[in-house]
Formats: sequence, structure tokens, C-alpha cells
Amino acid sequence: MIFYEHAMLGGTLGLAVGVHCRHGWGIVATAAAAALPDWDAVSRLFGAETYSKVHRLWGHNALIAGSTGAACGLLGYLCHISTRVRGHVDRLLRKLEPRRYIGGGVPARFSITALAGWLIVGIVAGLSHLPADIIYGGGSAPAWPVKVFWPFSEREWVYPVFPWGDLGVTILFIGEMFALARWPRFGTLIAWVTLAAVAVYALTQKAFG
Ligand SMILES: [Zn+2]
Repeated sequence: MIFYEHAMLGGTLGLAVGVHCRHGWGIVATAAAAALPDWDAVSRLFGAETYSKVHRLWGHNALIAGSTGAACGLLGYLCHISTRVRGHVDRLLRKLEPRRYIGGGVPARFSITALAGWLIVGIVAGLSHLPADIIYGGGSAPAWPVKVFWPFSEREWVYPVFPWGDLGVTILFIGEMFALARWPRFGTLIAWVTLAAVAVYALTQKAFG
């Protein structure tokens, strides 16, 4: 999986539990941003050896992926309750969708329950990156295991289902994106249909791939 699929998976998980109904689409965007532990790929700038040691390790463990996910959830929630940020987003969306956009409403007041919800969504989205990477690998190049509980454990996790570069899930997520743009009110249903399609595709890959 690359950035796009991870982001779509994080957002889809949020949509599936209906968080957008209570907190708006900002929390879906936050979940998408939280699912990106691939920040450790910037190690490529420091050479192939550093990249091979750092990528899929520093960001790809439950401790850091969960923490960065929580940080995204916190940042997303602060933006959600910020009058200034919401004003900027409103103006931008109104410019992009002058006929369809009906406004984002009044910024929510701070609530510890709502904050907890945003943090949980961020953490789950961040952690979703790890199993997704565990099932992607193999094919033309060897699988790249993930040390899920690093730095506490060196155990490596790998269970290749989709080969590197497989486009099946990418196409399903692209289809979901268009469906969401067309029928945003059915976000939860579209998310569940997409997750079911990904699961069926994974089963067929495992059985016949
Ligand atoms: Zn990754």
C-alpha cells in the first residue's frame, strides 16, 4: 500500500462507524491523515542503508503509530473547534463547490467526550497502517516484515496477501471516492460496501493468487 490506500483505509474505518454523522467530514480527513506512519520513508534521503534500517520501523510500530495517530486526532479536534480554521475551510469549500456547499455550521464547543472520540479515531487509523503493511508484500520482491511491538520486541510480522504493486484495492478505493462524492449522505453504507469488497478481494487473492 502507498499513501493513498492507507489514507483511504483510515478514512473508510471512520466512515464505517459513522463518526462523520456526529463530527462532520473533518474527522474523516483527520483519520486519513492519521493513517500515515510512512513518514519514516524520508530516511531515503539519507541513503539506501539508512532507509532499509529506518523505514518500516520508526513509524511502523504500535507505540509510534498510535501516538502519531493520537496527535493527529488532537490536532484535528483543535481545528474542528477553532472558529478561525473553520472559517478558512468554509471559504475554501464554498469556492470549490459554490452550488453544492451549504456551509459547515457553527464550530463545536470543547467537550472532553468529543475529544476522546477524535483521539480514538486517530489512534485506530494510525494503527490500521500496520496490518495493512503486513498483508502487502511478496510477488516480484521479498515481503518486508513489520516489527509491531518495537522497541519492546524484535518479533517480525508478515502475512503477504497482496503482492507489491497490486492495484485491486487501489481501484476499490478510487470507486469508493467517486461514490462518496456522488452520494455523501450514504458515507457509512459506502464504507461498509468498500470494506466488504476489500475483504472478498483479499480472500480471492489468498485462495487463487
Ligand atoms: Zn507503511
